[in-house]
Amino acid sequence: MAGFLLPESCDNPIRRRVSWRLATAYIVVQYTISGWAVWLGSLLIGELAGISMKHLIRAKTLIDGSGGSIEHGALLFESDRILAVGRAADIGVPEGAEVTDTDGTLMPGMFDAHVHLRSPGTADETGMHKWEIARMSYADMALRAVYYAQQTLRSGFTSVRDLAAPGGTIIDLRKAIDAGYVVGPRIKACGMGLSVTGGHMDEGGWADQVSIANMTAPCNGADGFRQGVREQLKRGADFIKLNTWVSYHNSPTRFWRQEMTDDEIKGACDEAHAQGVHVAAHTYGPDGVAASVRNGVDTIEHGHWIDEPVIELMVKHNTTFVPTLTINDVHASYALANPDMAEKHKRWHRESSAAKWKTLELVRKAGIRVCTGTDSGFQLENGKWGAYELMLMVKGGFTPMEAIVAATSSSADMMEIDAGRLQAGKYADLVIVDGNPLDDISILHQIDRLTVFKGGVVVQ
Ligand SMILES: [Zn+2]
Repeated sequence: MAGFLLPESCDNPIRRRVSWRLATAYIVVQYTISGWAVWLGSLLIGELAGISMKHLIRAKTLIDGSGGSIEHGALLFESDRILAVGRAADIGVPEGAEVTDTDGTLMPGMFDAHVHLRSPGTADETGMHKWEIARMSYADMALRAVYYAQQTLRSGFTSVRDLAAPGGTIIDLRKAIDAGYVVGPRIKACGMGLSVTGGHMDEGGWADQVSIANMTAPCNGADGFRQGVREQLKRGADFIKLNTWVSYHNSPTRFWRQEMTDDEIKGACDEAHAQGVHVAAHTYGPDGVAASVRNGVDTIEHGHWIDEPVIELMVKHNTTFVPTLTINDVHASYALANPDMAEKHKRWHRESSAAKWKTLELVRKAGIRVCTGTDSGFQLENGKWGAYELMLMVKGGFTPMEAIVAATSSSADMMEIDAGRLQAGKYADLVIVDGNPLDDISILHQIDRLTVFKGGVVVQ
């Protein structure tokens, strides 16, 4: 069943009409399954009547998103913003505030900093991926993306960064969510990814008579990439995605390959920075990551085989790392178990998995900012894997608190979204967890143990 959100604002008449019906159903369902009906009901009535109400959540444990926690904490919010956070005893109960008590944990809504909301995430790289590309119109992609966005939000991820979609589909989804027409997380979208002609994402292998246009934005030369950046920003992109270096499966010793020249990377980054946006790069290998960082890339996506000298360069340039552990883990399991998969692909997965853990350890020791990103949409279904990334970070040596910081304040800072911390003034994007993720991070992967708020409004 598709999820719904109680209304943030009811200026839209269609939304208002639908919202009343949904709201009524919601109260009935809630009443039968929990004692929260009274609180939620009064919250609803207040919201729908346009009366601003204060809401107080008191939790056994409160995780602030910046690395701190409070036992017996409390958070007060009004409308979509947090008013106060602290010890429950210090905050008290402000007059007229509705109160919720939980034995669980209150924490910020999480961020998935690498998704593809337009794709179904078919777990197969042989034929289906191309078949999907050939069959799906932009409208198909946009309509499915609405569902994936809802599922993502319901899983506790209140913000995402989308790393490539054609036709402006996810830029327009962002606009529709912000305007209240559909439900979904806060989105930062790059529009189409930029790559060289025939490069990563400029899918080749079509018959001459087949024309697959505008799935990505091929550019060539520094000026070509500058133009590509301008075109994506004109369409409404929030940041720029480059495919600088890519994985390479044909060599037994060198598992990455250059696509963009230094000049091209620098041209794109200079233009993006001049226009005030950041640049993300799909890249691999020490020389690939180094070339990307040296020429201005702000966030390294994937980035296996990062070595000590490159770590120093990343520290010097204040580069952010988005390791996308989930796609590599899930895809490696799939590839290694598949008897039809060519040995060179299996070798790549074995080597990249080993390199991934080493890279993660070096990055953690160096204190480089890490953000959680799953690569959902690419061979992973959106809305199902967000917290798995935190579990893999913990497997790779991060503490549960460090993984939560990566999924909240670090990603919020990188994406410039005013959430990710339980702090006065921030958006009330919250998750109440039935349990304590500091004791067992996998609790966050159990969606039925989460109650999610976006902008102070309960989701699901
Ligand atoms: Zn991706």
